[in-house]
Amino acid sequence: MTMQRHETITKPSTPRDDPNLADYDATRASFDWADVEEEIDFLPGGGLNLAYEAIDRHVVRGNGDKPAMLWEGKNGEKETYTYDDMRRQTNRFANVLGGLGVEKGTRVFTFMERVPEIYFTVFGTLKAGCVIGPLFSAFGPDPVRDRMEDSGAKVLVTQPDLRKKIAEILPQLPDLEHIIVVNKNGRSAEPLAGGDLDYYALMNEASDDFGPIATTRDDYSIMHYTSGTTGKPKGAVHRHNAVIQHYLTGKWCLDLHPDDIYWCTADPGWVTGTSYGMSAPWTNGVTQVIYEGGFSARKWYQVLEDYNVTVWYTAPTAIRMLMKSGVELPKTFDLSNLRFAASVGEPLNPEAVEWGVEAIGMPFHDNWWQTETGGIMIANYACMDIRPGSMGRPLPGINPGIIDADGNEKPDGTEGNLAVRTPWPSMFQTYWQQQERYDSRFVNGWYITGDEAVRDSDGYYWFIGRSDDVINTAGHLVGPFEVESALIEHPAVAEAGVIGKPDPIAMEVVKAFVSLKDGYEPSDELRRELMGFARQKLAAAVAPREIEIIPGLPKTRSGKIMRRLLKARELGLDEGDTSTLEED
Ligand code: AMP
Repeated sequence: MTMQRHETITKPSTPRDDPNLADYDATRASFDWADVEEEIDFLPGGGLNLAYEAIDRHVVRGNGDKPAMLWEGKNGEKETYTYDDMRRQTNRFANVLGGLGVEKGTRVFTFMERVPEIYFTVFGTLKAGCVIGPLFSAFGPDPVRDRMEDSGAKVLVTQPDLRKKIAEILPQLPDLEHIIVVNKNGRSAEPLAGGDLDYYALMNEASDDFGPIATTRDDYSIMHYTSGTTGKPKGAVHRHNAVIQHYLTGKWCLDLHPDDIYWCTADPGWVTGTSYGMSAPWTNGVTQVIYEGGFSARKWYQVLEDYNVTVWYTAPTAIRMLMKSGVELPKTFDLSNLRFAASVGEPLNPEAVEWGVEAIGMPFHDNWWQTETGGIMIANYACMDIRPGSMGRPLPGINPGIIDADGNEKPDGTEGNLAVRTPWPSMFQTYWQQQERYDSRFVNGWYITGDEAVRDSDGYYWFIGRSDDVINTAGHLVGPFEVESALIEHPAVAEAGVIGKPDPIAMEVVKAFVSLKDGYEPSDELRRELMGFARQKLAAAVAPREIEIIPGLPKTRSGKIMRRLLKARELGLDEGDTSTLEED
């Protein structure tokens, strides 16, 4: 096919290869989700609970002593938790919620770093039948307020420094009843703020016995906020049933076997951090490494070596940053245990796939999915040949297609909207209290993903781009509206328009154009002030990397800022149809 510019990477067969994937076409043809359900344990009485599947059932099956979590803190602390430790800790947290009088369905949010307690909180919340909403710890006050306010969260579990960062917005949350603070290893010397609850005190008093777990497969489990083109981010809500797909994709797309030592570098604040940093690995009974610290090429290779990691799931921006530090560095580490490496979140350029072969002895396996799909949908499987630059082939049981605006399928080789036939086990169930927006994502039995792609005649999918204005910076989706809203709160800013500007490492960086109110003059100092203002309100990861002050923003006759035009001008492209532009 024309889209293939790089040589196919042939994968030799190994005894570990899953026979189902070796005969992919036959497996697709005969696939039945009911067979997957046979491999997991429902609750007595037929219920389903994600936490039970990930943790308790391994204890029930006699693997309670197996390490589930090998944690390394940012200060070098090390802690190990077995599946039985996890069961008891999560039971305690479920009892803590019960003790606070929190009812089933209540939203419990975390604003925490990657410490073991976030995992206990997430699974304890799920056992109690509440809905967990993990927030990215690098967020500033505004994104936290918007998400907690929208969800009506009653409980927030956080850490002292993070609590301090968002202190100003906490009184603005009328639904918030309890703030539980985890002072991990006594890292903070400051006393608790008045009214806050001490996590360890609550956990010490709680029983490590909990039951019965009383959720059904359709009960809501996790919500993650995701950005769209317009309006504030919306809460994509999932149900416990998603665990069926997490389990299968862990096994087939990440090639997890029970003897694996697995490392997922995603933060629990994003969906990869919950579906593949919690549910998929633990439902597959592996030992998972959790490293709290941030990116450093040397340290990351050290983690791979120290923990004998066998399966590694990371992201394109991280791989491109590793590439920058050279092909020799990884060779100074013993990575001989590593046997499978995968990537998600943004387009993985063919050079990055191939660099893996040179640097770590294996290609990176790209796969595709998004917050709304809840689990991997398209993947390059361990035993299959890789076409570098392609997202791979659909998971058996998942039926994507390329469609036009009316929901009609387009032929292979033609670009169009990437869509997926409904339903599938981990499909999102609603956007929290925005049913109309949810409904607008479906046409003719298809879910419209917002991505554009093309399928080749062998069924491999190739990513083209987003069909909307959403920006993907280092794998984080950023809604321009959220950034614009933060900027116009500055007294000097009249209007703001935000675009994604191509970047060799992060794929895109956020660039903002602003016009000023009367009485303000453009200056470098003001520009820098605006950058700092946005970073403090949002998060470095989503705040503009560049701000340009211009006299006025291009708008449609109805007053909508034309981001597309800003982008075309920025890139020196044809400005296209400007007939709806504001008249001077
Ligand atoms: P999120 O919902 O934040 O997980 O972001 C999902 C979006 O990231 C998708 O809709 C794509 O635009 C992009 N994305 C995820 N995986 C890939 C991939 N393998 N290749 C290209 N883009 C991807």
